[in-house]
Order: sequence, then structure tokens, then C-alpha cells
Amino acid sequence: MSQDENNLNLIQGLKLPVMESFYTIQGEGFYKGSAAYFVRIAGCDVGCHWCDVKESWDSNLHPIYSIEKIAETAKNKSKMVVITGGEPLMWDMNPLTILLKKNNLKTHIETSGSSKLTGLWDWICLSPKRRKAPLNEVYQKANELKIIVFNIHDLKYAEEQAKKVSNDCILYLQPEWDKRDEMIPVIVDYVMENTKWKISLQTHKYLNIP
Ligand code: SF4
Repeated sequence: MSQDENNLNLIQGLKLPVMESFYTIQGEGFYKGSAAYFVRIAGCDVGCHWCDVKESWDSNLHPIYSIEKIAETAKNKSKMVVITGGEPLMWDMNPLTILLKKNNLKTHIETSGSSKLTGLWDWICLSPKRRKAPLNEVYQKANELKIIVFNIHDLKYAEEQAKKVSNDCILYLQPEWDKRDEMIPVIVDYVMENTKWKISLQTHKYLNIP
């Protein structure tokens, strides 16, 4: 296949750059504790300084797979597929999610919401980032809002973000992993005072699983 055909397939979402995929337990948010097949799509233009998957940013460094191959592997592993990144919405997610749903798989996404929303999703986890704000359409469709708390100023940011999501959206504060010892007590106090929020922890890291 020529480079041009490959690029066209990428633009159309028929092929996607994949940094890694693995069957594990969802560690965070509403579905924590549930078995899920994760597909980490490569490419991210957000650039958070504390990002723990910086190796995902450059999509050119990762293999490209057809959506058929991704779906075939996923359906043999799990009923729930979590598309994460990187920033998966940099790519057209419609073809992949249509195919996953044809295979009776639940489609979940973890996104910063900073690119156009594509795809058919059973669950949207929106984790907004200061460096590139989410688009309005993603705020409206988010099922859960997950704010990463790196320092105390992120609590004010969290409140600003919470005003933009729907009333049904579940609100989570999650300590940034390297700051957890410092931020967990702050978050605990905050959630007891502001009960619309819940705490999300990266339980997969405590379990020592991917
Ligand atoms: Fe890393 Fe996610 Fe931020 Fe991209 S949006 S830089 S993948 S934390």
C-alpha cells in the first residue's frame, strides 16, 4: 500500500496508530474495578507537563492497524473496550466504534475533549486539560468529568469545568499520581465539603496492573 493510501485510511479512520492495547481492569472513574480491553491510540496535541504517557504524543512512532484488526482482537478479550490515548479524538472514531458495536462491544472513551467529537460511545469520560480546552459538544455529552488535581488551584478549575457539563454528568476529582500524598488529604476535605464531587483514584496503579 502506498504512503498516500495509508494516509487516506488514517484520515478516514479506517486505520489508526496504536501505541499499545491490553486487557486489564479499569482503574478509574465510574467503571473502576471492571475488566476492560484498553486501546491506547497514539497522537496527542495537548501537551500536559505531568503527562505519564508522553511516548504516545508522536503518532509516527507507533504502528498503524486496521480497525478490523483492532476489533477482532478486542472481541476476543472483553465486552468493554476503552479507547484512550494520547488523544483519540485527533482521529475519526466513527468507523472503529461502529465496528466495535457491530461486534456487541461497549465503547468507552477517555478524552480531553479538545478535538471534534466523533464515534458512537456508550460512555464518555471527559478529562479536560488547561492547555487545550474541551469543545462544547463534548461537555454536553460527557458521562463523567474527571479533573486531575495536581495542585490546589485545580479545585477552582474543577468548579469552572463542572458548570459546563450536563446535570447527569458524574463529577470526579483524581489526584495526579506523583502528587497523591500531598493532594489526597486536600481532596478528601474538599469532597466532604462539596458533596457533588466524588474521589477517583488510579486503583490500577495500586494494584500494580497496567
Ligand atoms: Fe498526556 Fe492526556 Fe495530556 Fe495528552 S491529554 S498530554 S495524553 S495527559
